[in-house]
Amino acid sequence: MTNVPLPDDLTYYSSRRQDDVDALAWPVFSQRALELLRASGEVLRPGPGEVLWDAGDPYDLYLVIAGGVMLVDRREDRVVYVIEEGDFVGELGMLMGQRAFLPGVAMDGTEVLRVPVEALRRLVEISGELSDVLLSAFDARRRMLMRLGEGGLVLAGDDDRDLHRLQEFAERNQLPYRTVLRSDSQAWSALNATTILPGTGTVVVTGQRRVIQSPSTRDLASALGIDLWGLSDDTRCDLLVVGAGPAGLAAAVTAASEGLDVVVVEDIAIGGQAGSSSRIENYLGFPGGISGAELTRAGLLQAVKFGTRLVSPRSATALSRVAGGFRVRLDDESDVVACAVVIASGVRYRHLDVPGLSDLEGRGVYYAATELEARVVSHRIAVVVGGANSAGQAALFLARHADQVHLLTRRDDLRETMSNYLAQRLLHHERVTVHPRCELSGVHGTDWLHTVTLRGHGQEQEVQVDTPGLFLMIGADPCTTWLHDAGVDLDPNGFVVTRDGFATSLPGVFAVGDARAGSVKRVASAVGEGSVVISVVHSYLADTAAPLTGTGEVEARKCFQARNP
Ligand SMILES: Cc1cc2nc3c(=O)[nH]c(=O)nc-3n(C[C@H](O)[C@H](O)[C@H](O)COP(=O)(O)OP(=O)(O)OC[C@H]3O[C@@H](n4cnc5c(N)ncnc54)[C@H](O)[C@@H]3O)c2cc1C
Repeated sequence: MTNVPLPDDLTYYSSRRQDDVDALAWPVFSQRALELLRASGEVLRPGPGEVLWDAGDPYDLYLVIAGGVMLVDRREDRVVYVIEEGDFVGELGMLMGQRAFLPGVAMDGTEVLRVPVEALRRLVEISGELSDVLLSAFDARRRMLMRLGEGGLVLAGDDDRDLHRLQEFAERNQLPYRTVLRSDSQAWSALNATTILPGTGTVVVTGQRRVIQSPSTRDLASALGIDLWGLSDDTRCDLLVVGAGPAGLAAAVTAASEGLDVVVVEDIAIGGQAGSSSRIENYLGFPGGISGAELTRAGLLQAVKFGTRLVSPRSATALSRVAGGFRVRLDDESDVVACAVVIASGVRYRHLDVPGLSDLEGRGVYYAATELEARVVSHRIAVVVGGANSAGQAALFLARHADQVHLLTRRDDLRETMSNYLAQRLLHHERVTVHPRCELSGVHGTDWLHTVTLRGHGQEQEVQVDTPGLFLMIGADPCTTWLHDAGVDLDPNGFVVTRDGFATSLPGVFAVGDARAGSVKRVASAVGEGSVVISVVHSYLADTAAPLTGTGEVEARKCFQARNP
């Protein structure tokens, strides 16, 4: 372990300054909880300045018995946070094997109790109290880091599509980050003083001062150690869930809470379509509505609590039957072998065939309306295309930021395709103008969207609207191309055909949520299907748990049998 010099003057957020933090983030352990932690940990007395873990390392829980532990941004040699006596170091990602965002450095006279993360996972399983206290604290800490933008991760570059892609990935995966724009000369020089930045393009700077130029979202995920949560050395499982939208997350939480070894593969971001929703108002238990981001964070926390392993961003590209189960090929050519598979890959938004539109994607043309996109139309005009609930919600949400929102629908009446409550709100909203029987006919702009043209059905003349933000919410296609050669029946539109509940034509493979033919395209139904399918999965696993013959691929089945004799 290396040492870092202790700074003389500390200006930092402290675990004891309750005025600027969420109290939930710094709970006090009961005697019983402390005893459990002590029985699983070891006491260390590091010297002042000793690095307990570095940015990019996997890390353990450290309970500070005396002294303190500083979380340091080594890029700027700045103490970001001090964990003081009685408090503990730990964050949500820790339970998922994620690497530390920031290094931890011991202060003078420090004594800590180190509890290895493996032991901590076991404690969370066996102790309801520790599980409650730790998970609430981890959740509050992640929210705090997101709010402060203090995760050690910097996304830097020009305010363009590339940067927006990385910001969206960070936001949707709940990663705390800070943006530094080249146009902000002061912030850029400050970052450049400690990190050598390129003259052009987008860069990611990690807490280890690692600079990644023009990174893909997967480069970003693997730099943070979040792409293969818990899957590095074992790609076999009882149940593989493809897709981490509401249906997939519900299936994973239910299955893992009932003792199955679950792996979830997610292509883009946890939360699926719901994760990009600004406010879900028709989900039971949230009378004031809940944002997709909040719902996703809670679902993720629950999945982690029960030990679900998560692989993201990776997409399933093929499924085949092997002795004792199924092999799912991922887009990095790796395989996951599972006894049973739940398809929860949902749907993806359609794109409009308007010349020049794809060139402006991410530069004024969007397929989601979250806080990130809303900033673009703040005090400006926004145009939304679509007649379903998602379009209605987007229009209402954007109307909180924009001066005026134009909503274009091909139908005569919004109520043909939209929930009545949404249609009524839109029709009575002072900043929303609904254009029935109207279509988008053109987009204009070079670096950024500048103007759109609209045309009413049966009308010759086009109308021009100057806008920096066009939101396309025009229906969706199922994400099922990866199943084309799998022997899973799809309907003519590509949705997965199911019978007897959620069984597909391939025994052992089940489908839930929006990807399933005939499903109700709602969060509640996706969550319901994802939860209920697990009882069918259990029956399948129990019925087929007879001794199997075959090759090494029966191992997945054997591991299930060993735990469920
Ligand atoms: C903006 C918006 C607002 C909405 N608002 C509401 C609302 O207020 N109320 C409501 O009830 N419903 C709402 N909906 C609909 C609701 O979000 C969906 O019905 C629900 O998310 C469906 O869940 P799902 O898990 O089946 O699929 P999805 O949410 O589509 O999730 C599927 C996941 O699978 C992943 N995936 C796809 N293919 C692969 C692959 N090959 N490998 C790995 N992963 C893959 C996707 O990236 C995605 O994350 C809204 C939708 C949108 C877009």
